[in-house]
Amino acid sequence: MAVEDWTMLWEDKNAYVEFLRRCAAAENLDANFLIGLEEIYNQGRQETGFHHLQLASRGGHLLALYLIGYLLFLDGDSRCVIIDMLKGMSSREAKQCRWRVVEILSEMTWERGWLKRKINGDRQCEEDESCGEWNREESDQWLGEKGVERKFCSEGCRWRHEYLMFCSMI
Ligand SMILES: [Zn+2]
Repeated sequence: MAVEDWTMLWEDKNAYVEFLRRCAAAENLDANFLIGLEEIYNQGRQETGFHHLQLASRGGHLLALYLIGYLLFLDGDSRCVIIDMLKGMSSREAKQCRWRVVEILSEMTWERGWLKRKINGDRQCEEDESCGEWNREESDQWLGEKGVERKFCSEGCRWRHEYLMFCSMI
């Protein structure tokens, strides 16, 4: 069942959130993802929100996995675990998730700035000079890198780039 309904959200937010909570309780993955956003971004209840995101992610919800990746990426202790969890997500899928999550956030949330955390040591990869380079013919900054295929020396570098891209959009 599709639970995204922005018309319902704007007409009666409380009723919509209640509807989502019922769907989430019935293990609807999309509803768990949306309640996760509601808890984290609108209610400031990170733990509860995270719990809902994890329920969705474990059920195979890619957007939830993407957002968990973003939220945990700066945590030194969980970075290795999260990069391993994200390994199966292709760059194309990550890019699609990025656009979709940004779109949903703009409908569901009001205050986002505080979740934009600055990445530690915002610098180029030290291992490999060509890490993160792209095919210039295909690049188009105005399309937000839509046609760009970048190459990275590691999964860590790939997700660090993804983190920065997502940060720049929320
Ligand atoms: Zn690198």
